[in-house]
Amino acid sequence: MRWSRSLIPTLKEVPAEAEAKSHVLMLRGGLIRKLGSGVYSYLPAGFRVIRKISAIVREEMDRAGAAEVLLPALWPAEVLEESGRMEVFGADVIRFRDRHNRQGVLAPTHEEVITALVRDNVTSYKQLPLTLYQIQTKFRDEVRPRFGVLRTREFVMKDAYSFDAGPDGLKKSYEAMYGAYCRIFDRCGLDYVVVEAESGAMGGSRSQEFMVRSDIGDDKYVQCPSCGHAANVEKAAIGAGPGEKSVEGDGEPGGGPGEVSTPGARTIDEVAACLDTEPNRMIKTLLYVADGRPVAALVRGDHDVNENKLARVVGADELVPGDADMIENVTGAPVGFAGPVGLSGVDIIADRSVMQVTDAVTGANKADTHLTGVEPARDFRPEKIGDIRAAVDSDPCPRCNQPMGLHHGIEVGHVFQLGTKYSGRLGAEFLDESGRRRPYIMGCYGIGINRIAAAAVETFADEHGMVWPPGIAPHQVAVLCLNTAKPALADASQRVYEQLLADGLDVLLDDRDARPGSKFKDADLLGFPVKVIVGRGYEKNGMFEVQVRKSGEQKDVAEDELAGEIHNIIERL
Ligand code: ATP
Ligand code: MG
Repeated sequence: MRWSRSLIPTLKEVPAEAEAKSHVLMLRGGLIRKLGSGVYSYLPAGFRVIRKISAIVREEMDRAGAAEVLLPALWPAEVLEESGRMEVFGADVIRFRDRHNRQGVLAPTHEEVITALVRDNVTSYKQLPLTLYQIQTKFRDEVRPRFGVLRTREFVMKDAYSFDAGPDGLKKSYEAMYGAYCRIFDRCGLDYVVVEAESGAMGGSRSQEFMVRSDIGDDKYVQCPSCGHAANVEKAAIGAGPGEKSVEGDGEPGGGPGEVSTPGARTIDEVAACLDTEPNRMIKTLLYVADGRPVAALVRGDHDVNENKLARVVGADELVPGDADMIENVTGAPVGFAGPVGLSGVDIIADRSVMQVTDAVTGANKADTHLTGVEPARDFRPEKIGDIRAAVDSDPCPRCNQPMGLHHGIEVGHVFQLGTKYSGRLGAEFLDESGRRRPYIMGCYGIGINRIAAAAVETFADEHGMVWPPGIAPHQVAVLCLNTAKPALADASQRVYEQLLADGLDVLLDDRDARPGSKFKDADLLGFPVKVIVGRGYEKNGMFEVQVRKSGEQKDVAEDELAGEIHNIIERL
């Protein structure tokens, strides 16, 4: 590709609307342009990245034995209504009416359509296992589209679905996809962490996410530096070992809890300030309705409830926070003053760490009143004590009890054992060996194609611009002709451009009539892994300067060694 024939509108200024590094650089490098909220055009350099990622994904999915399909993105609304997911997705679903006034939606994901397709076209266990995938646009009216192409309302996903006759088959299909995902992210050059992920409160099935660590990531996960265990905070279990410290108060163990007046102090911070204590000495009481029953969840004031874990400990399919009426009914006090002492008619579920606080402060179930000097084991008796709080930094690892680190991550992929969730609902069954009808055991597997590009920019960019891993760079090599007005330089540039192309390299020739300084700047901004400079060195002694974007390394190379040298560099990157 010649720069003069492409459309790479680089910008000197930092666009005002962009906060994230990847957003700024992809706009400045002319990879993307915004059309509307969460909707972007990909220009030639940007689309090359998307195509390269898609090609890697396709190769690895094919290698893993998956077959590619292309399913419609435009659906009659019934598809989501019949599966009950119109409600689940809610306002995320983009809806429209067609000319016959029929309700339609733009597909946010494809479980329903693929399950119905297999239901209607596969009949026997002999046709299994089957894994189908597609690379296709999804539409989600995200609450907060942001950070450029990291979270958009229209994005390209690789989604795959496996169909098996039984749980062993699912395990194999899942492992095949897991392996393919590792190869995909390796080839894309990403540093990733595989974290255990939430698969729904009562689901016994497995789910893992592929995360790229980044401070701007929307997900949080804990990772143990000692044994490597990692889990999304939505799921993360906390070790019960010595790392989970007890908190002791400074009061004398007295006769019992005492009431103190805390007018208007409802939040943990307000009460802590009012009573001159620390949040970790307080017991926070949150009321929920679990499968119709009231439940009080206790966590330390400096902790948060993890509702997924709470639902599991309670054994509830559905867990929703209680509303103000429910809280007043159960506690007899307005919201903000609930506490476990003397609380009846409700199951009390305490986090383990609550039981280790002494001389604690908690709500008195009375307006504007709290209790001090509370001793958990003495003053109230929980129905259950378990791990129900969200993990925080330095919490002990559930496997080895070493302190775990808490990090932000960008979710680039997700593998999920679905079981019969969709096949059951949609009546997707096959005939087993004995001629009985059985629902397919399914798995689903997603990768965000655009998000991989943004995550790569986010993690590898430096102060000069993007630094692409060679596998997904818009071009592997940029040949910079420093003065197109000089025939010797223009000819030599053209020659090496053609040679390198012929040698299988993906090359961009910067043949613009522009100053050398802006060519260097633009090449660095675009982040091509290797630059070949055709300038003074060539005029002097026929040599080409080769520069490595990532390390800044440079050396003079003779024309006949150029292709070999660049292949070596790319190999090493
Ligand atoms: P998130 O929690 O980030 O919203 P999700 O759990 O909704 O993601 P999935 O439904 O599992 O995502 O989709 C599979 C993959 O598609 C994700 O791992 C992610 O890489 C990508 N993805 C999801 N939503 C978006 C989006 N709005 N913009 C870009 N990529 C997305
Ligand atoms: Mg989402």
